[in-house]
Amino acid sequence: MERERRPRVVVVGAGFGGLRVVKGLRDAPVDVVLVDRENYHLFQPLLYQVATAALNSSDIAYPVRGILRRIPNATFRFGTVVGADWTTGELELDDSSRLAFDQLVVAAGAVTATFGVAGAGEHAFPLKALEDALVLRSHLLATYEAVATAPSRLDGGWLTFVVVGGGATGVETAGAFSELAREVLAQDFPDLDPGRVRVVLVEMTDHVLAPFHPRLREHAAEELRQRGVELRLGESVARVTPEAVELGGGERIATRTVVWAAGVRPHPVAAALGLPLADGGRVEVAADLSVPGRPGVWAIGDIAATPAPDGGLLPQVAQVAMQGGKHVAGEIRRRLDGEAPRPFRYRDRGSMATIGRRAAVAELPLSLRFTGTLGWLMWLFLHLLYLVGFRNRLSVLVDWAWTYVTWNPASRLILRSLHPDRSRTAG
Ligand SMILES: Cc1cc2nc3c(=O)[nH]c(=O)nc-3n(C[C@H](O)[C@H](O)[C@H](O)COP(=O)(O)OP(=O)(O)OC[C@H]3O[C@@H](n4cnc5c(N)ncnc54)[C@H](O)[C@@H]3O)c2cc1C
Repeated sequence: MERERRPRVVVVGAGFGGLRVVKGLRDAPVDVVLVDRENYHLFQPLLYQVATAALNSSDIAYPVRGILRRIPNATFRFGTVVGADWTTGELELDDSSRLAFDQLVVAAGAVTATFGVAGAGEHAFPLKALEDALVLRSHLLATYEAVATAPSRLDGGWLTFVVVGGGATGVETAGAFSELAREVLAQDFPDLDPGRVRVVLVEMTDHVLAPFHPRLREHAAEELRQRGVELRLGESVARVTPEAVELGGGERIATRTVVWAAGVRPHPVAAALGLPLADGGRVEVAADLSVPGRPGVWAIGDIAATPAPDGGLLPQVAQVAMQGGKHVAGEIRRRLDGEAPRPFRYRDRGSMATIGRRAAVAELPLSLRFTGTLGWLMWLFLHLLYLVGFRNRLSVLVDWAWTYVTWNPASRLILRSLHPDRSRTAG
């Protein structure tokens, strides 16, 4: 007897949101196809630790097929979605194949936004994909080697590292750069004067960590300063060149390393799919996270304009994506059972950022705020908890513990093929 065809749910993106949808549909009477252009789930919040050699790439990435082994009704499709045919209900992939869906969940995330700043796209380092982190790591280490070979390069700002954007990513990256330079590379390169290393954090507004309570912002800024990070608050970047960054006020900082942590924009696949877009380019969604005018289509996470209770939009953070994914899985189940839609309710579980060893800020519900060692331990614990897979948790814990005791992280490797622009370090 022929088996009855079950509804097919296609999920685009194996990030924080997409994975939650798939897990939430485990045991549901549907077949799930998870599509991603990468074959791994990436834990983006720890990308900067790969860039600064604190962690290995496999610590923060997990093969999707490994995750799906335990979810019998889900399969993986390795490919890039480039469009949709709404008349037939099919996605178009970059290899010209098609994928039919009954329900579609778009969870393709975001891409780096350079806001039209001249030279940023060409000369600044983004920090969004695993390759970005490996390219930056190779560049950082190769820059040190180049200065060790010809110390006169110090005068050209070769050991000046500029981070653009004072949000959590920028703060964490600047803090990690400073720690890497002072604690690790100072020992690796004893002939280089550590006093010549500069880490500069440029932020347009007057404070770092805008969404945090003012007391925590101040604390983070002070911690950064104590760790030798120069804060340029209230300054914007006007231009990035291969040898310098130029600030809005006219100052030129000679550097070969500008890290762009100033923001993201929705993934362009939102427009390619022809979905309705809200201001800013995120996919418009109704209160239940369904896409208006497209029955059976949902959008979650960074790519979606998820409404906030105050009338604005929820931030592009992992918790919004994960909770959105869980909600949509529940809604798909409810639709199958003929039940009425329910609105998505986001529960803010707080925010955290670490500045370095034994220094972090944590803002939790009920106005609970933590700093210092306690905040740092909470940050460590939560990041371990949210990593996918026991193996990754264990390997991150071992790497952190090893570096904590030795200041001798294992992944200080220059990968020549990922050393993008040799002119930056070879000239
Ligand atoms: C450096 C950095 C640090 C961060 N730190 C924090 C933090 O500390 N706390 C926090 O809450 N959030 C943090 N974030 C934000 C957080 O990572 C995102 O909010 C979260 O990943 C969004 O989840 P998502 O499921 O919407 O998208 P993602 O997790 O980005 O997943 C999107 C997936 O879609 C895939 N994809 C994209 N386009 C296509 C396509 N056309 N076809 C097929 N597949 C596609 C991608 O490969 C990816 O796997 C950070 C982000 C970055 C970049």
